[in-house]
Amino acid sequence: MREQIVIANWKMNGSTEANRLWVEKFLALCGDLTCRTAVCAPFVYLPQMTALLKGSGIEVGAETVSTRAEGAFTGEVSATMLADIGVTLALVGHSERRTLWGEDDEAVALQAERLVATGIKPVVCVGETLEERQANQTEAVVLRQLRAVLERVPADKLGAVAYEPVWAIGTGKTASAEQAQEIHAYIRQVLAAKFGAAAQETAILYGGSCKPSNAAEIFAKEDVDGGLIGGAALKAEDFLGIGKGFAK
Ligand code: PEP
Repeated sequence: MREQIVIANWKMNGSTEANRLWVEKFLALCGDLTCRTAVCAPFVYLPQMTALLKGSGIEVGAETVSTRAEGAFTGEVSATMLADIGVTLALVGHSERRTLWGEDDEAVALQAERLVATGIKPVVCVGETLEERQANQTEAVVLRQLRAVLERVPADKLGAVAYEPVWAIGTGKTASAEQAQEIHAYIRQVLAAKFGAAAQETAILYGGSCKPSNAAEIFAKEDVDGGLIGGAALKAEDFLGIGKGFAK
């Protein structure tokens, strides 16, 4: 059976005090974790988060990484540095990085490759804009974004693929469970065409306005193996409620 995962994406939120309180609350409430769980936090808080979550079974991830290995790249953080402080996974290709920081498919593929070289699992975010969906380009966009990464990284080195329709991120508009399943099945087909049976093992997560009230229905679909959670992950109890949404 494929691994089920929920990943928090805190984006540019948090403080040392707020993070400590979030972890305290989450650990007090979570009991035995029902699925693999990770928190992606801003770079500066990663050492704090790895310390706070040590021994909890909850992984700590980064939200992005440099395309470069090391050297004169002011402000950048390398995959080697992330591995050095105990980070085990990292997002690449989040739509905010693609649209606001101009990270293109090639950059995302390079980031994934750098992470894999250090033993960190990339979580590759893909997804179409509203205009692209309306123009029936969803599959073509997802294929292009995914292919760029799969040219450099084999499926068994991926932490997950996260399907995040851009129109659903932070908007309160969620893809229906059927829409999510349709694209997740397509992603699995793309993975299978390149990597055969290994595609059955790759987790494909849904992201986009997931909440405790809608997660269970989406996660119940055959090819949905969990979620990448933004806004709702800022509250420990909501993130926990989403993780408990697995009925499979
Ligand atoms: C995200 O940014 O990865 C995300 C899914 O955000 P939200 O849950 O807020 O839509």
